[in-house]
Amino acid sequence: MIAENLNKIRRSLEDACENCGRNRDEVRLIAVSKFKPAEDILEAYEAGQRLFGENRAQELSAKQAVLPADIEWHFIGNLQKNKVKYLVGKAALIHSVNSAELIREIERLAAVRNVTQEILLEINIAGEQSKQGAALSEAEDLIRTAAGQPHLRLRGLMAVAPLSEDPEDSRPYFRQLRDLRERFRSELPEPAAFDQLSMGMSGDYLVAVQEGATLVRIGTAIFGPRNRPDPVRQ
Ligand SMILES: *Cc1c(COP(=O)(O)O)cnc(C)c1O
Repeated sequence: MIAENLNKIRRSLEDACENCGRNRDEVRLIAVSKFKPAEDILEAYEAGQRLFGENRAQELSAKQAVLPADIEWHFIGNLQKNKVKYLVGKAALIHSVNSAELIREIERLAAVRNVTQEILLEINIAGEQSKQGAALSEAEDLIRTAAGQPHLRLRGLMAVAPLSEDPEDSRPYFRQLRDLRERFRSELPEPAAFDQLSMGMSGDYLVAVQEGATLVRIGTAIFGPRNRPDPVRQ
């Protein structure tokens, strides 16, 4: 079932890219495996999937220890300062950086471990109380702060659109996130690196691709419903 789901999503990503004139290789599919057992991940792995997303730092670290070494792990969950140690140098990309305090802690540990950590800034694009990203009003400061750290590489922005039945409702938020990236890109010391947009989930990833997503984060549509409450969308 997992392999079948993956193939279906791959085909629809291909179609979506073709229909909006994008290269298929500009969009990467993250299989969001949070709360799912290692067997499910292996099933996806055997179907060719190498990029997985987790939303709890210890769970990512535990799965990384027992699963094939060529898996690329992305962290997409709410991040606490004391959990950063599980991720720096281990997660290929941390999507959910949302404060100056986190930026400094990731920089500190990356320096200690002598690695360059790739990050995205998570933006609370709709200004929802329940969402964890940085406020739009803080985005500029945070982008500058992150871009100035020697052991960080700021790759772009991440957002979760408000929960809705209609994927079209997500479009203005995705567009806003892309605009935000464009607005700051030229001012950054490494504009070419600031090219990622992590947006789109099972319900709205096709709209996200149309609006320029480079990373779509898909859980349910690959692995089926989760039996644990979803910390992002309770
Ligand atoms: C769980 C989660 C996803 C995947 O959600 P689905 O609707 O199951 O595809 C994507 N992004 C984040 C941040 C998540 O926590």
